[in-house]
Amino acid sequence: MEEELHHRDHTGVQDFVLLEDFTNPDAFMENLKKRFHEDLIYTYIGSVLVSVNPYHELDIYNEKFIDSYRNVNFYELPPHVFAIADASYRSMRGENRDQCILISGESGAGKTEASKKILQYIAATSTHSKNVEVIRDRLLQSNPLLEAFGNAKTNRNDNSSRFGKYMDIQFDYKGAPIGGHIINYLLEKSRVVHQAEGERNFHIFYQLLEGATPVVLSQLKLENSSEKYYYLNQGHSNSLTSIDDRANWRAVQHALDVCNFSNQEQKDLFAIVAAVLHLGNVTFSGEDGGPATITNVEPVVVISQLLGCEEETLLLALQHRTIEAKGDRVMSPLTLDQALYARDALAKGVYDRLFTWIVTKVNDSLNSRKKQKHSLMGLLDIYGFEIFQVNCFEQFSINYCNEKLQQLFIELTLKSEQEEYQREGIEWEPVQYFNNKIICDLIEGKPSGIIAVLDEECLRPGDATDETFLEKLTTTIGKHPHFVSHATTDNTTRKTIGRDEFRMKHYAGDVTYNIKGFLDKNNDLLFRDLKEAMSKTKNIITSQCFPVKELDSKKRPDTAGTQFKASLTRLMEILVSKEPSYVRCIKPNDFKRAGQFDERIVMHQIKYLGLMENLRVRRAGFAYRRPYEVFFKRYKSLCPLTWPCYQGLPKEGVKEIVTHLHYKPEDFKMGKTKLFIRFPRVLFATEDAFQL
Ligand code: ATP
Ligand code: MG
Repeated sequence: MEEELHHRDHTGVQDFVLLEDFTNPDAFMENLKKRFHEDLIYTYIGSVLVSVNPYHELDIYNEKFIDSYRNVNFYELPPHVFAIADASYRSMRGENRDQCILISGESGAGKTEASKKILQYIAATSTHSKNVEVIRDRLLQSNPLLEAFGNAKTNRNDNSSRFGKYMDIQFDYKGAPIGGHIINYLLEKSRVVHQAEGERNFHIFYQLLEGATPVVLSQLKLENSSEKYYYLNQGHSNSLTSIDDRANWRAVQHALDVCNFSNQEQKDLFAIVAAVLHLGNVTFSGEDGGPATITNVEPVVVISQLLGCEEETLLLALQHRTIEAKGDRVMSPLTLDQALYARDALAKGVYDRLFTWIVTKVNDSLNSRKKQKHSLMGLLDIYGFEIFQVNCFEQFSINYCNEKLQQLFIELTLKSEQEEYQREGIEWEPVQYFNNKIICDLIEGKPSGIIAVLDEECLRPGDATDETFLEKLTTTIGKHPHFVSHATTDNTTRKTIGRDEFRMKHYAGDVTYNIKGFLDKNNDLLFRDLKEAMSKTKNIITSQCFPVKELDSKKRPDTAGTQFKASLTRLMEILVSKEPSYVRCIKPNDFKRAGQFDERIVMHQIKYLGLMENLRVRRAGFAYRRPYEVFFKRYKSLCPLTWPCYQGLPKEGVKEIVTHLHYKPEDFKMGKTKLFIRFPRVLFATEDAFQL
């Protein structure tokens, strides 16, 4: 509280609602920048936390800090991620309401670090009781485990999460953590088979090669040299000073033990990781359009040993596919392109299912077997809005997810503002805002939303291609105000958009998508023969991941787009039932560098995190609100009627103070428990009264 007001010149305001010029993005950025250069990385917008990645260690997460934020009112200490965690935990306990903390921001902005700090805070401060140590450990250890399999070095972040994650922590009525549950979203599985220049595959591959003993490596028929594996050597960036693969390998071993993976399961698990590496080294030869033949059988032999399947079956399945025609099953040889596609599809499919299997297994270990009623705190660490040079199906999916989260955010923020006004008996003043439902509908609507049109093309037998998909989009939604394509736009815009692209006007800005690969990625086809081979393996994990009943099912599996849509719908249902808190993370520069604040890229993020809109909603009514006790305690000395002693209630005392200070009636409102002040200047003037 003290600092909040006293430091407003030197280090800016601690809460953006106190910015005089709150509609001006430059003023917003100036405030962030001032604070960033003082290592004050956290700032509030009301109850939303904005965090700027400092890119160096700050000594603000130690036990002393944990203790000081514990049970202290939100606004009494400088903004901190611990304050968010504490407020959320106390609200869960005090009001018995399930909570969720939504963390967003672009790659490298600090989402995962923030979520770990929250977990660290909760683990340290939540009620201790017997039997919770095991769960607490597993909750903490699930992080290094999932990061090993789901994170990778990218050009933006050396430890980039390549999946979305929602984690519920379950608490008993005493507030002790008794269980947890994790849901994973859309692993970037294309990384298993291909990495861009300067990037790596998922950490686990390098950890295994670097960390495992020679005995284990020889059992897995692996060599300690990532350069030897095609699935690892495409990015030319294997050894990194910033990542200690060997130490992380030990951490993963420990995490697997803590999370209750049996020895056999661990063995089977790494047999699969090794099999994927060997699979990448399977090469084919073949004439244009003619049948493909495997040129090196050794890796296939090794894979069949590792997974426990017939060599023959695997060899056949990698070179042929069975086609059912009029009741007959015919083996048709694959062409070179098809064989490479099938090999990579198998690697991706196996790894992706393995990842989900690990999550399920971790969930088993976090399962609170007690049937008692519990309250929940959810943590969402999910990819932020992405605009790249070339944007594909992946960016389309991620940006769709962000549209949904934005919609939820707007709805919930307005709702909670409205509720607070109602609770306090103050008249609600409607806020104008852009409702992005129209964009969500454009993507997920039926029958003519983008996903529906894409599915239709995927299911259409015959000559459907990415191009026919674009044509169909143009005819069905070409006139939509948030959709632009080459064919439907005016001459000027046409110059900026290719014939193989479409553009969407997202709430956060325009993104141009290239249609190449949309059909393939949405179809996500893994030939039946390969699935069948996997379902017959002796490796428990692969056989569980490819259940026979999936093969027996007559129903075509849902497309990737439709599955993602369904998982987002479920996520929204989970979130909407909880009380949300928000952490908005910002990356200060593109070079992972400390002390550098690049205004251009920060401004961009302010825009697409919707921070100005957020501030506008928060400021639409009253900039500042505090419980009467808090206001009274700070300002009672400014009024002769309340100082040095006062017998009445805080609310009456506050009334005396504001009358004495000549507050104008339009500047404030008195709610049931809180004082609402419309403009920051009124508050600053009150603060200045100390100096008089
Ligand atoms: P992605 O979307 O790629 O997963 P992210 O938003 O999860 O990105 P993080 O992995 O959390 O990003 O952060 C990237 C790096 O930035 C971290 O590895 C760490 O080096 C640094 N970093 C982030 N937050 C902090 C912090 N609060 N203090 C110090 N360093 C930080
Ligand atoms: Mg992350």
